[in-house]
Amino acid sequence: MNTIATDRDFSLVKTSPVHGRGVFAKRTIPKGTRVFEYAGLRVSKTDLETDLTNGLTTMTFVMNLNKTTAIDGERGGNDARFINHSCNPNCEVLYFNETPYIYAMQEIQEGHELNFDYKLGFDSETILSIDQKKEWFPCNCGSENCRGTLVSN
Ligand SMILES: [Zn+2]
Repeated sequence: MNTIATDRDFSLVKTSPVHGRGVFAKRTIPKGTRVFEYAGLRVSKTDLETDLTNGLTTMTFVMNLNKTTAIDGERGGNDARFINHSCNPNCEVLYFNETPYIYAMQEIQEGHELNFDYKLGFDSETILSIDQKKEWFPCNCGSENCRGTLVSN
């Protein structure tokens, strides 16, 4: 029995009222807790489109890592990939040694859904109007300050 793993066993995946499956606290998660790593295969961004064409990924669980590399939670990922977006999140992503981790920004009560701000961004050449952002990347998180889109810039 691995007690460390048990101590870090904070969450479970189930159907979310927001979107698809979500991640929920199965016990109170103290503020500042590192819940888990956002695991997945490291892929160069130039390879991602080819991988999509070849059916290796659906791009649903891709997280930006840096200019050249992304992490694809669909391949070798963990429950972190099921965390939904919120414009008023209770978790945040912090990077250590080029590895993203999900941290609780506040105490999260048992049964509450975990979420973080996806902060979808585009390179400087791509300029989307606010209507395009809302149409192509809509947000339905339901929070009071919902900006209506997953895009943050
Ligand atoms: Zn929102």
